[in-house]
Amino acid sequence: MLIERIRFCAASISLALISTYSFAATSPGPIPAKDCALTSPTQGSDSMGASAKPPFPPVQLDISVPLEPTIFPSGGLRYLVYELHFQNYTDESLALQELEIVDASRTPGKAIAAFTGSQLHERLLPIGSDKIDEDHPLEGGKRAVALICIAFDAAGNVPETLSHRVLVGGSVAEGPTIGTRHTELKVLAPPVTGTSWVADNGPSLTSHHRTGLFVAGGRAHLSRRYAIDWKQEGEQGEIYSGDARDVRSYYSYGEKVFAVADAVVISAKDGLPDNTPRTAAGFNTAVPITMENVAGNAIVLDLGDGQFAYYAHLKPGSVRVKTGDRVKRGEWLGQIGNSGDARWPHLHFQVTIGPDILASEGLPFLIDRYRTKEENGTWTTRTREYPMGDIAVELEVDSAAPFK
Ligand SMILES: [Zn+2]
Repeated sequence: MLIERIRFCAASISLALISTYSFAATSPGPIPAKDCALTSPTQGSDSMGASAKPPFPPVQLDISVPLEPTIFPSGGLRYLVYELHFQNYTDESLALQELEIVDASRTPGKAIAAFTGSQLHERLLPIGSDKIDEDHPLEGGKRAVALICIAFDAAGNVPETLSHRVLVGGSVAEGPTIGTRHTELKVLAPPVTGTSWVADNGPSLTSHHRTGLFVAGGRAHLSRRYAIDWKQEGEQGEIYSGDARDVRSYYSYGEKVFAVADAVVISAKDGLPDNTPRTAAGFNTAVPITMENVAGNAIVLDLGDGQFAYYAHLKPGSVRVKTGDRVKRGEWLGQIGNSGDARWPHLHFQVTIGPDILASEGLPFLIDRYRTKEENGTWTTRTREYPMGDIAVELEVDSAAPFK
């Protein structure tokens, strides 16, 4: 759950489900995760304005991608998850009408996905205004962030480079060209083990992780872009049995967490108390939240190659490692608790490009093996995938050991 109190944008984003666009695979195949547009790398249409003369002056819309994405597999599809930041450099409102994503590795570039009208507005996170839609254009000087998720079917290679065009008040604004393979992804052991897990709050438009842009260390970051709240659920999706105000009632509470790789512990904190879980009676953290204790009892592993794994909200007294320790993949590190800015016991786990839980950028990661429940109720083993879509998961820490 980490830091619900800084969900400063979550309340203002339109939570309407996205109708996905367009060049969907023609044959039935895997269903994309919620809020992701399905496309095929082998298809595409002529890009809007590709041959048009650029307007003068150019549309005064600054478009940037702070972190280039890295393609990752999940559920039989391949995904790109990233953000486009739109900054209006005029005093006048700008109507954002359509975003087109273009395969820039083909000549001429082919549009492989487009978000038109409400499809675009629904994935805009307004910064400094209440909402952006047909009746509420991007106001002068204001910013908005488009939360992009594209799912590619199995056909063909995902483009190496993508460019962006935005239709603004009838003119085309040129966006950046980006790569799609920014980082070599880590293949990790699961951070938890056993059955009845849900990989919650993954990157959808309704996830406080995905919408959790936050200024830390002097600039806006999205460290939680791919963070997962690991929690155990019962048959009916309930997360506890018994007294809702007792952490020990929660299925996840006290579950062990494990090293996802051979790694160096660069931070290990313990000694913070558990919070009384949030109920209708209200919620207060056990101690005032600060930048130092927001993650509660926590462990940070240096995975090498500039990547870090963060385990947050651990149980007081459960942390078994200390700063500087070397740990082995699968080593028992601590137990799930409800410390820091956590409402209910769960493991907040993320991989980032820096060791800070907030002043960093989130990366996808691959879990070497897990089983996931399909729509039809059957279980499928997935290898070297990121668990998209708030899915039910069974995990086994020792990848050599078969699932029962
Ligand atoms: Zn979380």
